Amino acid sequence: MTQPLLTIDLGAIVDNWRALDALSGGAETAAAVKADGYGCGAAEVVAALRSAGCRTFFVATVEEGVRLRVALADGEVHILNGIADRDDARACIDNALHPCLNHRGQIELWQAMAGGGCTLQIESGMARLGLPQAEVEALSPGLEVRLVMSHLACADDGPSNPANRVQRAQFTEGAMRLRSHFPAARLSLAATGGTLLGAEYHFDMVRCGIGIYGGMPFADAAPVVTLTAPILQLREIPAGQSVGYGWTWTAERPSRLATLPVGYADGVHRALSNRATFYIDGKPAPMAGRVSMDLVTLDVTDHPQVQVGDPVEILGPHQSVDDLARAAGTIGYEILTSLGHRYTRRYTNAQ
Ligand SMILES: *Cc1c(COP(=O)(O)O)cnc(C)c1O
Repeated sequence: MTQPLLTIDLGAIVDNWRALDALSGGAETAAAVKADGYGCGAAEVVAALRSAGCRTFFVATVEEGVRLRVALADGEVHILNGIADRDDARACIDNALHPCLNHRGQIELWQAMAGGGCTLQIESGMARLGLPQAEVEALSPGLEVRLVMSHLACADDGPSNPANRVQRAQFTEGAMRLRSHFPAARLSLAATGGTLLGAEYHFDMVRCGIGIYGGMPFADAAPVVTLTAPILQLREIPAGQSVGYGWTWTAERPSRLATLPVGYADGVHRALSNRATFYIDGKPAPMAGRVSMDLVTLDVTDHPQVQVGDPVEILGPHQSVDDLARAAGTIGYEILTSLGHRYTRRYTNAQ
């Protein structure tokens, strides 16, 4: 092994989508593929999900939507952040993308450009994006609203958090008011966390992201991502020698160190310095010193057999995306979306 290798299991992605689709009952299960498919490669992910029967995709920006449309001749593409200017609106019209209209300015812009099918996001308690409920009445019935959506702030906490019921009630109230204007519009409230909350959160469509990519809160997900890096250099150091930028780790015994060609520019967050553990043949090898841009150093004193070129597991059977996220003080979403672009990528189990 000479290069770090990121393996993405497209079969697991499809299995996870199917499992969420089974959980969502009669609702359609759309896929969130923003941020390059949560770092897994939007084009590859969409091709796999498309052949499994997924028809509807969500991205954040118009640019992401245009890129996706090139790879996806049919299927619905929704733009969560909506349109910022006339160029955005024009790109949506030309590429048959459905912008989420999130506030009055976006609605007026879409109407001024004579845009067609669109999604309307209404505020239900997250206070991030979405039309305030008080402005719902003023909407023009001429708008071609196909989907009315909102987003849950606390779904990952599960049913014990009362915020979910409060938001559901807010969403239902807003949606009922909109029904008279837009009787054909479908409704969508849940992402992965909301899908797991149960049938009363599913409405007509759920929008799953993280669960498809194998992350929490979907505890039953199949793991999708494996990341290994080869040892670039080995050295022996005496007790008392310090290692790396800032000399933040000092050997307490004569030690063996392995340097790997991955760093924070590759998504191995600097917050993992002296905290993460990687695995060699299933046995832990703790980090020694700070993560630098392109390199990390491990204490492999307890691995006397390792050699330059041997693979080290960063993500895989012994360490999930969420395990590594915990060590970095973050969430699986951030680990996935910061996976670097310098890895050799391999896609497996395409159908
Ligand atoms: C990202 C996103 C989703 C998908 O969320 P997951 O938690 O990854 O399932 C759904 N809806 C909106 C509005 C989003 O921003």
